[in-house]
Amino acid sequence: MDLFRVTAEMGHERVLLCSQPEAGLRAVIAIHSTVLGPGLGGVRMWPYASTDEAIVDALRLSRGMTYKAAAAGVNLGGAKAVIVADPKRDKSEALFRAFGRAVESLAGHYITAEDVGTDTADMEWIAAETRWVTGLPEDRGGGGDPSPVTARGVLSGMQAAAQWKWGADTLAGRSVAIQGLGSVGGYLAGYLAEEGAKVFGCDVDDDACAEARGRHGVEIVPVDEIFDVEADVFSPCALGAILRPETIARLRVAVVAGGANNQLAEPARDGDELDRRGILYAPDFIINAGGLINVYTELHGYDRRRAMRMASNIYGTTLRLFELARQQNVPTWVAGDRLAERRIAEVRAVGPRHWELASRRRLDASI
Ligand code: NAD
Repeated sequence: MDLFRVTAEMGHERVLLCSQPEAGLRAVIAIHSTVLGPGLGGVRMWPYASTDEAIVDALRLSRGMTYKAAAAGVNLGGAKAVIVADPKRDKSEALFRAFGRAVESLAGHYITAEDVGTDTADMEWIAAETRWVTGLPEDRGGGGDPSPVTARGVLSGMQAAAQWKWGADTLAGRSVAIQGLGSVGGYLAGYLAEEGAKVFGCDVDDDACAEARGRHGVEIVPVDEIFDVEADVFSPCALGAILRPETIARLRVAVVAGGANNQLAEPARDGDELDRRGILYAPDFIINAGGLINVYTELHGYDRRRAMRMASNIYGTTLRLFELARQQNVPTWVAGDRLAERRIAEVRAVGPRHWELASRRRLDASI
């Protein structure tokens, strides 16, 4: 891989390769953009088959964070880190402290958080070496489980879709089919039931199904039949890449709005197909930004009510993106990207980045 060519094409500002063999650390920190603020993104621990695979994942995920933060309206850029190791075998205090030092060396340009393969205990080790870490346990000022906030944002995005499609921003009397009744799907089912929606759901885990049925009256359907449910909304809250030609052809809904990341297997092909079928797609990275909003609020002293309020702003953002799609006559998945790009361009035009100066001053003060 020609790394300079790839980063130039994808627009990354910098990529740090961290190697400390005695601590077992092999990591990549990719900072895509700091136009809107410091790049924030979780650190993923995964036994990548090759260094190239790890770098490509960090590059791809960090660019996704730039778009998510930009659309969420938070003052954050996009970044992501990956540690090449097996989370079941290779975790140690030394490894995470070595990673923490690498984060500290970036002087606030990168802020880390949990991701696949890492958890709050790992963040505590990292926090021994740097203050540029979020996702700490609640008793250390962290925000705790982000899922209620994420689900609140998904609900807001769904309400915006209802407003756009049916002229009323409520799900009362509507039906929603949720794929995955885990953390996000479970909370979402509760919020929808409270609002008076009829909720269908499925999960590969029988306990999750039993809980959703018992607590929120969710009507459970077999896992392989969730795409066939006749409902107003389909809400993917389990895995990515589930919207493909075969599954889209089965949908009998007017709206797709869910919390799962990367729902479109191939954005251009599958996003366009939803549009052709007249199904309103609320882009995942816009309506599931509650998790990011949750860690963002940690940076200012965590306050769950503020996080919930910010997540409910996803309503207005989603409506703006539907409006942009209409004005520019493009599918909503394209409009989502344009909305994010527009904010970055507008802020870039404002001029010097004060947060950078502030972070430098903080660094000077600590020396
Ligand atoms: P989770 O693990 O708590 O829940 C996922 C659920 O999906 C589990 O109960 C699992 O059994 C179920 N599942 C797995 N395969 C399934 C299948 N084929 N059919 C039906 N159900 C299946 O995870 P979560 O935190 O609720 O996250 C769900 C999705 O939302 C993920 O894609 C995640 O990346 C995304 N997301 C989560 C957050 C958050 O705050 N937790 C934030 C942003 C995005």
